[in-house]
Amino acid sequence: MMQIYADNAATTKMSKAAIDAMLPYLDTIYGNPSSLHSIGQEANEALSKARERIAKLLGCEAGEITFTSGGSEADNQAIVSAARIGEKRGRKHIISTAFEHHAVLHTLNKLEKEGFTVTLLDVHSNGMVTAEQVEKAIRQDTCLVTIMYANNEIGSVQPIKEIGEICKQHGIIFHTDAVQAAGHLHINVNEQNIAMLSLSAHKFHGPKGVGVLYARKGIALTNLIEGGAQEHGKRSGTENIPAIMGMAAAFEEACANIDSNSEKLIRMRDRLIEGLSEIPHSVLNGDRYSRLPSNVHFCFEGIEGESLLLLLNDKGICASSGSACTSGSLDPSHVLLAIGRPHEIAHGSLRLTLSEENTDEEVAYIIESVKGVVEYLRSISPIWNDMCSGRKSFV
Ligand SMILES: *Cc1c(COP(=O)(O)O)cnc(C)c1O
Repeated sequence: MMQIYADNAATTKMSKAAIDAMLPYLDTIYGNPSSLHSIGQEANEALSKARERIAKLLGCEAGEITFTSGGSEADNQAIVSAARIGEKRGRKHIISTAFEHHAVLHTLNKLEKEGFTVTLLDVHSNGMVTAEQVEKAIRQDTCLVTIMYANNEIGSVQPIKEIGEICKQHGIIFHTDAVQAAGHLHINVNEQNIAMLSLSAHKFHGPKGVGVLYARKGIALTNLIEGGAQEHGKRSGTENIPAIMGMAAAFEEACANIDSNSEKLIRMRDRLIEGLSEIPHSVLNGDRYSRLPSNVHFCFEGIEGESLLLLLNDKGICASSGSACTSGSLDPSHVLLAIGRPHEIAHGSLRLTLSEENTDEEVAYIIESVKGVVEYLRSISPIWNDMCSGRKSFV
């Protein structure tokens, strides 16, 4: 049976370049970069080079890069650090949005319990927030604005540069969770007025368990992990050299191919959107144009997302109902609720996230399969039956 992977927002397959870049550091150059002997020093040199290579791709300096265990840790450390800086100056107000990743939202919840005030901006029904909304929410005591670059569920891409500009004018730290954007959209932290940024290797064909926190020079980081003072003393623990090497290689490859990959992805994405829009009582989530080239996200009335996923899996299609982190819970996605989708329709969600390895043939098969499965599920759905007979109204 055909096996189609369309869940690249959850994680990606490692690229050959990334695997090849890791192997020597598992096998021969396995030293601890803090050791003074040659095997250690060789690893240390590779670490410095990797830091420079990644800095170059973000448009920053090597000293502004801290390696972390992934996007979640980078988000946590960015937000806690900015909060501690604000606190020292008597500023304990933070601006964010209702549709951030839980790594951001749960860190903000923790700070609220400590006495910080958090304003979560309303997200428009197209999955966007505006720089004007950010400006209106700014107070005398605002210390941090944290807004994601691209949403991991519905794929909407935010006006990061404009938001950064507002923050710069007001002297407020701007952090962006760029985990879905890195390697897929162009990033330049200076041009885009970004003071802090998180990324994660496994979302761009690198290994899992490694990421980056960029923090502009002068922003003091707060340690989340104490120990041997690695990473300029800001993130202890022996560096995960193989993973860092894999991340550097994957990031270079992804950034070099952004334009050609995007072109291919947008063509496949738009075909999928067109095809699935033909399903009656379906709605596309996220902005039609300001969206990740890889992301397709629909809600279908009258069905359960879980059943849809299981039946698609039987047809060899790996998809998601939204965030990998909330699957298994019966609550509808906080992202869909944030954009104003009612509970009834938020349950029937489907996220298809492509990679450049997908093909037109697979796209055609996905469209045909989703159409068939939605039709079947509706044929056995009491709610759908009630809607069709007028006992219950369509959303
Ligand atoms: C995947 C993801 C994260 C978490 O990254 P990990 O490396 O898995 O910890 C954070 N934010 C967004 C937007 C993501 O998509």
